[in-house]
Amino acid sequence: MKDLLDIKYWIFDLDNTLYNGQTKVFSEVDKKMSAFISKKLNVDLIKAKEIQKKYFYDTGTTLSGLMKYDNIDPHEFLEFVHDIDISWLPKDLLLREELIKIKEKKYIFTNGSASHVTNITQQLGIEDLFEAAFTITDADFIPKPSLEYYKKGVNKFNIDPKKSVLFEDICHNLKEAKFLGMKTVWLENDEPFASRGKDKPYIDYKFKGPLSSFLQKINILKAA
Ligand SMILES: [Mg+2]
Repeated sequence: MKDLLDIKYWIFDLDNTLYNGQTKVFSEVDKKMSAFISKKLNVDLIKAKEIQKKYFYDTGTTLSGLMKYDNIDPHEFLEFVHDIDISWLPKDLLLREELIKIKEKKYIFTNGSASHVTNITQQLGIEDLFEAAFTITDADFIPKPSLEYYKKGVNKFNIDPKKSVLFEDICHNLKEAKFLGMKTVWLENDEPFASRGKDKPYIDYKFKGPLSSFLQKINILKAA
């Protein structure tokens, strides 16, 4: 892990990375997406779910598909699907402690919205620890895993990708980041979609367990 010791820019995905993938935040958003599609496209919930998944796999996010094929207003969609109750999500004091020890700049790069970033980070108790978040709106709705997404993100904040590391739960989101020169860390999980590509060379580090444990290892090395 020595090559992580002089990282200047620490970039974190949001969902299933900054909080445990076993938690149900994403399934809440998932349900809201189905409800939105059902209402907007006037189909039942089963059909809505099919459309949702098809767009997700074909275009990277459900939203991209809805914009491309159904002319949906992205702002309306984001506002609706991220309006969820996450009051049950516990504060993560360990994560907070390790993030504080990282003195370099920290960013969130997400396919979600700014309000979702605020909701989640406030609930976790880490909202004050990041320089900025790069959201799907900032990316002009062209999501990860596209190269364009990462290019826009690093340009917006003047980040040198060669001095950066990216943490992600979805393997293939690391590919273009690696191409730009970032170090990549995959938070191991068994979700078939997220683990597709887990043996690819664009993954520098794999780690099972909460993000705070991995950061703790780095922080101990840095302090030594
Ligand atoms: Mg994620």
